[in-house]
Amino acid sequence: MTYAEDRLRYTQGTTSVVERVSECLKRIETSTHNAYLQVLADEALKQAQESDERFASGLARPLEGMIVAVKDNISLKGARLTCASRMLETFEPVFDATVIERLRDAGAVFIGKTNMDEFAMGSSNETSAFGNVHHPTHPGKVPGGSSGGSAVAVAASTCHVALGSDTGGSVRQPAAFCGVYGLKPSYGAVSRYGLVAFASSLDQIGVFANSAADAAAVMEVIGGHDPMDSTSCQEPLPAARSTNGPRKIGRIGSALLKDCSESVVQAYEQYCERLINAGCTVVEIELPASEVWIPTYFILATAEASSNLARFDGVRYGLRVQGSADGEVDMITATRSAGFGTEVKRRIMLGTYVLSSGYHDAYYVTAQKARRVIADGYTKVFEQVDLLVMPTTPTPAFDFAANVDPVQMWLSDLFTVSANIAGIPAMSIPVGLDANGLPIGIQVQAPMFADADMLAWADGQSNATP
Ligand code: GLN
Repeated sequence: MTYAEDRLRYTQGTTSVVERVSECLKRIETSTHNAYLQVLADEALKQAQESDERFASGLARPLEGMIVAVKDNISLKGARLTCASRMLETFEPVFDATVIERLRDAGAVFIGKTNMDEFAMGSSNETSAFGNVHHPTHPGKVPGGSSGGSAVAVAASTCHVALGSDTGGSVRQPAAFCGVYGLKPSYGAVSRYGLVAFASSLDQIGVFANSAADAAAVMEVIGGHDPMDSTSCQEPLPAARSTNGPRKIGRIGSALLKDCSESVVQAYEQYCERLINAGCTVVEIELPASEVWIPTYFILATAEASSNLARFDGVRYGLRVQGSADGEVDMITATRSAGFGTEVKRRIMLGTYVLSSGYHDAYYVTAQKARRVIADGYTKVFEQVDLLVMPTTPTPAFDFAANVDPVQMWLSDLFTVSANIAGIPAMSIPVGLDANGLPIGIQVQAPMFADADMLAWADGQSNATP
């Protein structure tokens, strides 16, 4: 289900937005995926009606009638904003995130808020306080995380596109597991205003779609400077390069592929082969400091999370639990003990530890230095090649409860965290199924702010005959 195809149908009058929204609502109602935390049926139908009127009167806006699901850490006025946490179970935001405002103005229809790992911390959607999300085609498997609900929402045809957030892979990894496109834009390309912060220097709002073209259409609307986010890019985002011909592509070597499943390695080799057959030059690249990607990410992400989540104190937002004794310290302790789940507490404790005065230099400062090495390394890599390709994940979707060891779970983010550390754009492209029918994704990474170019190239690839 792509927006581009449906838009054509809307214009030709072979379907209506109300009809499409009603079908999506029916699918959500009968599905057992637990992808949605809140369905906005009445509002969506009302917006759909307005979209149909606009099509009828020739006033359709750029994304008129695009059906959008929104991860539940993005602020949408009129809906709850829970971050899949008990802490915010009943919290209602008073404003729209910039991405929501821009999509709304462009004619999008918001169908619901999607389930996720609590505060976007996780890779399997198992840390949600409101139950697991199930894989769209394999019920015993995880959909990936943390934006698992958004990935399933798109894969199960309950919307055209979905918004997610990607701090270390949370759009690309579930996109790969569920067989859809998943885009993490360059840091600063999309405003974070209205996104509940996990790790502010790594977070980006991203897009799930059934085609690169749909993701690009969303980026056109949500991308660009926002006065409400001082880290958003100041300059207009560059357009795609005009020639979409063969490119110089970097690939990774066997050392980085050693922990991948056979099916992923095979799909990757076939993909590189396909690129060569299409006339691309494919060269093996040594990626910068890959052995420290995961530790660097988890030190920086937890440090920033421990600071960002300090605002959930029982005073300002959501839950308040009275402590056994009087006084605010007791109340804050009781609230945070009851409101946060195990993974969130683990991250806060680790982050507080790496920032503590005795260990700050040894961990946090060292991780900042490693970040610089990784980012500079990428700049050099992109002096040699136009784009990089690598697997999105070491394995296809795994079983529920397969990664009970948190470190094992963290290691599954091997290929995704470096793009966030360096700030560069990256996306996962669905390339087929393994022998068990599980989707496999290939990741493309591009130079800073080459988002439109990367999307155009991916679109060209999907249109090319294999
Ligand atoms: N899986 C990673 C983590 O647990 C990434 C999460 C994300 O991108 N939000 O931190």
